Amino acid sequence: KKMEVVKATLRLESAALDKVAVTAGGEDYTYADLLRAAFRISSLVEEKDGVNGSVANGEEVVSETGRKPDGPRIGIMAKPCAEFVAAMWGAWLNGAVAVPLALSYPEAELMHVLTDADISVVVSTEEYKGILQKVVEKNPGVKLYILPPISSENGTAVTENLDKLLLEVQNRSSNLSGDEAALIIYTSGTTGRPKGVVHTQAGLGAQVRMLSETWEYSADDRFLHCLPLHHVHGLINSLLAPLYSGATIDLLPKFSTSGVWQRWRDSYPLGGEPVDSPITAFTGVPTVYVRLLQGYETMDAETQKASAHAARQLRLMMCGSSALPLPVMEQWEAVTGHRLLERYGMTEFGMGLTNPVRGERRPSFVGQPFPGIEIKIDDSDSDVKGVGELCLKSPSMFREYWRQPKVTKESFTEDGYFRTGDTVTIQDGYVKILGRTSVDILKVGGFKLSALEIEAVLLEHPVIAECAVLGLPDKDYGELMCAVIVPPEAKAKEAAAASEPVLTLKELHKWAAEKMAPYKLPQKLYIWESMPRNALGKVNKKELKKTLLESAA
Ligand code: ATP
Ligand code: MG
Repeated sequence: KKMEVVKATLRLESAALDKVAVTAGGEDYTYADLLRAAFRISSLVEEKDGVNGSVANGEEVVSETGRKPDGPRIGIMAKPCAEFVAAMWGAWLNGAVAVPLALSYPEAELMHVLTDADISVVVSTEEYKGILQKVVEKNPGVKLYILPPISSENGTAVTENLDKLLLEVQNRSSNLSGDEAALIIYTSGTTGRPKGVVHTQAGLGAQVRMLSETWEYSADDRFLHCLPLHHVHGLINSLLAPLYSGATIDLLPKFSTSGVWQRWRDSYPLGGEPVDSPITAFTGVPTVYVRLLQGYETMDAETQKASAHAARQLRLMMCGSSALPLPVMEQWEAVTGHRLLERYGMTEFGMGLTNPVRGERRPSFVGQPFPGIEIKIDDSDSDVKGVGELCLKSPSMFREYWRQPKVTKESFTEDGYFRTGDTVTIQDGYVKILGRTSVDILKVGGFKLSALEIEAVLLEHPVIAECAVLGLPDKDYGELMCAVIVPPEAKAKEAAAASEPVLTLKELHKWAAEKMAPYKLPQKLYIWESMPRNALGKVNKKELKKTLLESAA
């Protein structure tokens, strides 16, 4: 099926191109503003470098399928802003492959991605000039473009040019087959070195349509966006799919709890009418909701009232990327009236399973496959029938791990399902994630235990604000269950003042005795001041394990 990405994320009639697509830094940018800027960027990249939708570095890699070689890779490094969207569309207009770069990458990591993806051009903004110049100096093959800020050009002769713009988009995409690489996203590296995941034009198109339809995105929606853009959650769920739906996206350059609550209150003033085009949708990782709740706790009573009122008015609040602990879900519902819509996804296929917009959202379950997705559980290695690895087929499936054919092949079953590496079970058609098979499924004295389930229980304890459960090798038990906990700040202070530990293992066991079988209790307790998390708020358990082992040695 023919599908290309600029049109896939921009299916508007020319009349609607005058609508605001993105708000950033207090400026409104219409779809037309972004598209015009995208054309400028695409020609900038093209003229000066001969990047014209063919091959980088003169290298011809024709695949077994006889596919056309992929376009050159364009790295994009920018905070969530209008320039980011324009650069991405600009790359696609030119048949190039967009590679969003993490803003948090240290120099070495940035270097790894530049070389691994064989990036020929990096497009960025003034802010990142310093670090990029250093990296580019060491990679003479890479060109750097620092974009001037996009200006909005509302007014003169806009409409007559729009049809021309759309025609040009059409022309540029008319010879695409759909199997061309459009996007390379690097995985979080939670279980190994980050891998480049290649998404095609058609796969990305399928993905944005699927999300937009299932979650009922529309042109009436306004998203408040506060996630990084180098992962599917921030990029596809809350930017590309909304753009495809003709929605407006408010880009916050950085997440701040007060900023988010403030925007909700601004949209829906207590005792007044909502503003024009208020925020209707929000999506976050679990840590975002934890922080928002902490922010709420510190407000005075009046601000709390206004905040809770405003949050109630949104149409949709979604959560995913890691497990949503039950106590967080319950607290959020108590404050805002929203039962968070939890869903499950991966860099490799975008979103896979979701609770419904209408209908029952089951706490601690990630719901059902999106329409068009097929799943099965591989329980051949499991001692419990029906508990096993989730395998999945989707029209949004990635094409390959970038230049890693062997790893790609190994990650699919013989009948073409992708192996997620997550252990799951199904009840009444709803899927429950028990965790990553490699780090969250512990083998303790013959029992297989889900770290996620134990974490969910521990989080009910009043002095446990955050926790991570993991197994350390043990000669008697196979693995010994350890819990790293972070107490709430106030509790930590109280304990320090009294020179007492905030919690002892004995106290924990006593408290947990009624909640869990004895073999599910952690045997080691570490009390930390904070939890190491990545840009998406995920705990890297492999790293954590290493740290604990090193500290024990
Ligand atoms: P790497 O593949 O490099 O180890 P990663 O798997 O963390 O990194 P992502 O693709 O960003 O990179 O994350 C996908 C994983 O996130 C899933 O395999 C799953 O373990 C976890 N995940 C996503 N959504 C949920 C959810 N709702 N509940 C529990 N886990 C989730
Ligand atoms: Mg993964």
